[in-house]
Amino acid sequence: MTETIPESLSAYGWDSFFSNHFRELNMPDSVPCRIISEYKSSYRVQGDDGERTALLAGRMRYDIDPEFGYPAVGDWVVVLPVDEQHCVIHAVLPRKSKFSRKSEYRQKAGGIKTEEQVIAANIDTVFIVSALDGRNFNLRRLERYLTLAWKSDASPVVILNKVDLCPDPDSHIRDVEDVSIGVPVHAASAIENIGISYIRNYIAPGQTAALLGPSGVGKSALINALLGSEKQATNETRAVDGKGRHATTHRELILLPGGGLVMDTPGMREIQMWGNETDLQDSFEDIESMALQCRFSDCLHDTEPGCAVREAIENGDLDISRYQSYLKLRKELRYIALREDGTLRQQEQLRWRKISKAAKKLKKHKYKDR
Ligand code: GDP
Ligand code: ZN
Repeated sequence: MTETIPESLSAYGWDSFFSNHFRELNMPDSVPCRIISEYKSSYRVQGDDGERTALLAGRMRYDIDPEFGYPAVGDWVVVLPVDEQHCVIHAVLPRKSKFSRKSEYRQKAGGIKTEEQVIAANIDTVFIVSALDGRNFNLRRLERYLTLAWKSDASPVVILNKVDLCPDPDSHIRDVEDVSIGVPVHAASAIENIGISYIRNYIAPGQTAALLGPSGVGKSALINALLGSEKQATNETRAVDGKGRHATTHRELILLPGGGLVMDTPGMREIQMWGNETDLQDSFEDIESMALQCRFSDCLHDTEPGCAVREAIENGDLDISRYQSYLKLRKELRYIALREDGTLRQQEQLRWRKISKAAKKLKKHKYKDR
């Protein structure tokens, strides 16, 4: 029996991959919907007959498969409608691709468990956006975004935006092609509408694209260029809030005029902050070179004894606010790295053991001297 796929669902990416999995579930009265935005304890989903607010079934909330994680924007979910406005999510269909991070939580019974936190699902093409205005051009950062993209199973395409500000784009394009082997590279200008049609060609009806890249490279401008003048009309959707009023909500999966979807979620914007400690060395070279004088080679300039960086602050050689922004950034980067890397976490524990031993010794000496 050949099955006809409703046009309204195929516009949102529904195809035989998902419909086969849906049929296998064989859940009476259920319908498939795609998550178009995510809130603290609910979702907005798009189904064949329009949008609904969705809640997770209790079983899914308390007994989530840690390998699979909670549903995210872009997921196809299986729901049971409650009324015209509401439904309950009973299953998530397998994903074609996903962007995720590992998060840790302490179990009630003790012990730490790692859980996958999915940020976005079922993205076909991920545009890695960089800008050609000099300031924002960084090949190493581009490599990290490419690594993220390959891990996700979405196909990456590199966009070098703001070509209108660059006198010699060709040499930059060649540099980028050298580090992104096998990945298409396109120059574009969201403001002057250059290269937008190339980008548009990757987002056929039913295909989902997302944009990755640091803030300021022009991702919003590119989405606006893709939307033409229809941004306001398509980006906002009206939902009924808890008090029965109509509230304007933000749509994170946007249907483009002429078909195709663009995902723009806060979660994906957060990924863009992920970096590594080499970035820190670049922007805080002065502090990093002072740190070479600290007693411990892996001093965190926090409470460790013999810290040259804190000494510099006390002497007035280092501005305290600069030091604070250094600490803030370093904390963020370490946190992310630790979450991602188990070996680093072990090293961190060893390092703290060493420091607390040294601190204890120091205390003992002080008492002896008295
Ligand atoms: P996002 O943070 O990546 O979303 O970046 P935005 O879309 O907010 O753009 C950041 C700034 O760059 C804004 O002032 C835009 O007007 C500007 N901008 C974006 N695209 C272009 C472009 O192609 N050419 C030029 N000259 N400016 C651009
Ligand atoms: Zn130090």
